[in-house]
Amino acid sequence: MRRRSPELSIEALRAYSREAAKVSLRRLQHGLLLGIVIVPAFGLLDLLAVPERASLFVKLRLAVALCLGVIFWASTRPWTKRIRSVLRIVAIVIAGMMVNVMIRYTGGYESAYYAGLSLVFLVATVIVRFNVRESAIACGACYLVYLGGIAAFDDVENFRALANNNFFLLSSLIVALVGSYLSESLERREFLARFHLFSANRKLRELDQMKSQFFASVSHELRTPLTLLLAPTESLLAEEAGRLPAPSRRFVEIIHANALKLLKQINDLLDLARLDARRMALTAAPTDLGPIVTGVVRTAEPLARQRGIDLRSTIERTAESVVVDGEKVEKIVLNLLSNALKFTPPGGRVEVSLRQAASGARIVVQDTGIGIARKDLDRIFDRFAQVDSSITRRYPGSGIGLALVKEMVDLHGGWVDVESQPGVGSRFSVTLPATPAGPPARQPRPDAPAAAPSLGLVD
Ligand code: ADP
Repeated sequence: MRRRSPELSIEALRAYSREAAKVSLRRLQHGLLLGIVIVPAFGLLDLLAVPERASLFVKLRLAVALCLGVIFWASTRPWTKRIRSVLRIVAIVIAGMMVNVMIRYTGGYESAYYAGLSLVFLVATVIVRFNVRESAIACGACYLVYLGGIAAFDDVENFRALANNNFFLLSSLIVALVGSYLSESLERREFLARFHLFSANRKLRELDQMKSQFFASVSHELRTPLTLLLAPTESLLAEEAGRLPAPSRRFVEIIHANALKLLKQINDLLDLARLDARRMALTAAPTDLGPIVTGVVRTAEPLARQRGIDLRSTIERTAESVVVDGEKVEKIVLNLLSNALKFTPPGGRVEVSLRQAASGARIVVQDTGIGIARKDLDRIFDRFAQVDSSITRRYPGSGIGLALVKEMVDLHGGWVDVESQPGVGSRFSVTLPATPAGPPARQPRPDAPAAAPSLGLVD
């Protein structure tokens, strides 16, 4: 059996006591308001059942309603905070004593007013929701006074009436005690379960944050040496240090291509961590998308050549008013284009186009690659989702590229569409509004802990 840490349990019990105190005040006030209305209203019954006592009883009822009113007022004062349990007991005992007085005036042990005591027990259990101790003290006191009255003042001759009334009263008392016990223990158990869930959620959120921070710092540390590695390989390829012999050039190209690939993965991870930490902001400005898209296509040309893929681009001039974050658009195109090149076999074709859309710009990356089955189309934008995620998969990757694309397009208030057919190819189309419309309400990530639940007791 798993055991909970003692600190958590003590913390949980303290939280339960605080919550129970708050809720019990509300319940006392509901019970008092009901009493203030119901006690005088039962004067009607007095008029019908015992008209000769009606005037006395009505006065008694009004006096009790007044007392309940005073207790209500007292319950709203901060100085009664520590004695709220006493207030609850006093309120019920006052109502019970009133019924006991009426019983004395209406035939003692034979009086049908004993039913009033059952009603008081019911209010104590169901409305005020006494705990067992309070029920035992308040309801027990009322019943003992009832018994005391019979012992002191009544000459019992009608034993049937005595047995009948006491049987009902005693049963009501037992029901009140058992009911209080059950509702208190159920409530406590439910509260503690919710509290533990809440604490577990909080811990998960903290762990999630730590993970993102760790991701960010590790990625950062990896990026620095990589950029230092890329700079000299680029110089070598640019032949700044003289012409490279063909075989050496080939090796340097491989080093350069793989270092670039690694840098992209690390940048993706960093972006993911930034998104998680809600630190990814949009730095939007009126931008000419043409040079951005052309720039990405140029960077990918050596890779396309190396893989024997025909890479083409069609760049239309977009209206000046496309307000976007250029760096993010570059990442969007880079991710889509590197996927297209990765999933297209040699001899295939990849086309990138930039066109004016109804209100903004549309970037389309189309390939004649392996395509995606219809059933997988929905999940490829999920984090870490890959159509083939087996260890023996043909195409390397981490499954974050498209998730990032979607999040960055969302940040612009745009959208991504995908059409694909296995064996024929895929077409990813990104529409960016002329001005960023703001991201849609962020859906909580499926792996993110749920929002903290309210810990309030059900009232
Ligand atoms: P990664 O490429 O690193 O695996 P992505 O998030 O970029 O991750 O893509 C998720 C998955 O979507 C890929 O693993 C692949 O199965 C599928 N996919 C994405 N782009 C294409 C494409 N152009 N052609 C075929 N499948 C694709």
